[in-house]
Amino acid sequence: MASETSGDVVLPGGTIGIVGGGQLGRMFALEARRMGYRVAVLDPGRDAPAAQVADEHVHAAFDDPAAMRALAERSDVITLEWENADVATLRDIERIVPIRPGPGVLEVAQHRVREKDTARALGILTAGYRAVSTRDELRGALREIGTPAVLKTARWGYDGKGQAVIRDPAGADAAFDAVAGGTEGPVELILEAWVRFSMEVSVVCARTAGGEVACFPVAENVHQNAVLDVSVVPARIPEEVADEARRVAETMARGLEVVGLLAVEMFVGEDGHVRMNEIAPRPHNSGHYTLEACPVSQFEQQLRAVCGLPLGSTGLLRPAAMANLMGEHAGTALARPGAADALGVPMTALHLYGKGEARPGRKMGHLTSLGATPEEALERVLRARALLSA
Ligand code: AMP
Repeated sequence: MASETSGDVVLPGGTIGIVGGGQLGRMFALEARRMGYRVAVLDPGRDAPAAQVADEHVHAAFDDPAAMRALAERSDVITLEWENADVATLRDIERIVPIRPGPGVLEVAQHRVREKDTARALGILTAGYRAVSTRDELRGALREIGTPAVLKTARWGYDGKGQAVIRDPAGADAAFDAVAGGTEGPVELILEAWVRFSMEVSVVCARTAGGEVACFPVAENVHQNAVLDVSVVPARIPEEVADEARRVAETMARGLEVVGLLAVEMFVGEDGHVRMNEIAPRPHNSGHYTLEACPVSQFEQQLRAVCGLPLGSTGLLRPAAMANLMGEHAGTALARPGAADALGVPMTALHLYGKGEARPGRKMGHLTSLGATPEEALERVLRARALLSA
């Protein structure tokens, strides 16, 4: 353990360990280094985006207990950018070093049924849902939930992977085959009622060990093929709906006793009420706008929360919009003819994650634009992306 710790506080000069070396870890590491911390990353990829900018790289699989211990021995505190780390291993190394958020939060965030059970227990609305593990249970659950509905894997689901929409009861078997991965079960699935939403929104909330909580502004999110495409901030919803969204995020963060960040994805129903969909105990793609549009970014806030420092201001300096750059947009990045014009779009910043291979659907980077209004920011970011992709 490094020496610059005082009580539960990790001061600059200390080392933060990150489980996961993707773009979230990269942006976290860059912010941590800006604030004088050292960063160690655990990731199996030799050239992982976060490893490129970290002080140390523990190059091993996430489920390798020896590697996790090696990370713990180098670190004053461990945080994560990837919530599917092995909970048993984390519980083991928790004896060596604090893990923030703790394994108990991950246990909930790794399982869609537990997420929704937790939300309901805290008085938060969700879509109707049933845990399902066999074809028969699916048929029964469909009778209760009705159609349309969506069948999802309870674990390991992200960005719409492992999901099938069921439009009528006759589609149950095909959905089971698609999602259960060819087994007859029992397999951990969740059937959810289809939510008629007017908007998808998210809130990134930070909580310290002392119970201080701060939420960033509500982001309005548009998905393509169930992957985040564009976020607009502030979300264009009535103030009381935004308040409800922040209340949901804060209630989840407090209820789970998160130390670090909790990103909460929600639907704004056609009835005007907010329903919790998913949580992620880490920075979130829909919070990238905070790097340019807030005094303290989600990554600095994560650092402050896990190091035991006071939280920073979460106010919005300017309306903002973020557009993801996928492999198909950023294939040759700045070699494309429109790149110079794209970089000339006013109030627009480019982030690239240092990933080598630009596969379609792979997140390669993002653009953030600021504007006098959310509409102006959105127009700028879409224009910049179109130019970059041309
Ligand atoms: P998820 O992996 O749960 O975030 O789902 C990916 C996307 O699928 C969401 O952002 C929604 O656009 C859509 N979706 C998922 N679940 C539902 C639902 N119960 N009702 C309506 N749309 C959904």
